[in-house]
Amino acid sequence: MVRVALVAYQGGVAEHAYMLRRASEDTGIGVETVYAKRPEHLDNVDAVVLPGGESTTIGRLMARTGLLEKLRHLILDEGAAVLGTCAGAVLLAKRVRDRVRGDTGQPVLAVMDVEVTRNYYGRQRESFEALVKLRDPTGLAPELEEKPFRGVFIRAPAFTRLWGAAEPMGTLGGDTVAAVQGKIVALAFHPELTSDTRLHRLLLRLAKK
Ligand code: GLN
Repeated sequence: MVRVALVAYQGGVAEHAYMLRRASEDTGIGVETVYAKRPEHLDNVDAVVLPGGESTTIGRLMARTGLLEKLRHLILDEGAAVLGTCAGAVLLAKRVRDRVRGDTGQPVLAVMDVEVTRNYYGRQRESFEALVKLRDPTGLAPELEEKPFRGVFIRAPAFTRLWGAAEPMGTLGGDTVAAVQGKIVALAFHPELTSDTRLHRLLLRLAKK
């Protein structure tokens, strides 16, 4: 049984919970979900989902409630698996830039060796769907390489620099739009808005590791 906390301030929380239930059926890994708004909701958790939304707002709320600190401990000291989508991916990055304004200085978890550029696709392409080419550096989800993933991008960021332990996991054109570091998975797009459970299956398998 894997216990997954969904940070529940904003974004597709219910959609992620639904995808986790489906991924549980697909993999046979039992899952229990909990909506997290306060640090005590993160007790005994094996995995965390950071949904999309507005990363500055979510980061500020996480800092104010103490969720930020507890999440960092869970990820860095206890090895919890993490799936961050869109704003959630921004919150994982050690370096956050805005396409227009440069360094944002916003509160983030800063657990992943990546630079994220917010609103990377700008105003012309605020939201779009595109096929993302995925690879599986984890060895846990070979099905990621079988066919491309239909990514839903909404004011999406991109990973503009990776170093250290971060590895690219998905590309769109020449841009990195998915990355993995140990048990941390960061996606510029929204898998919870599709019917493809492959990336949620990966989270469950990472949590079991
Ligand atoms: N542009 C938003 C941010 O950087 C993310 C958008 C989203 O999560 N769909 O916070």
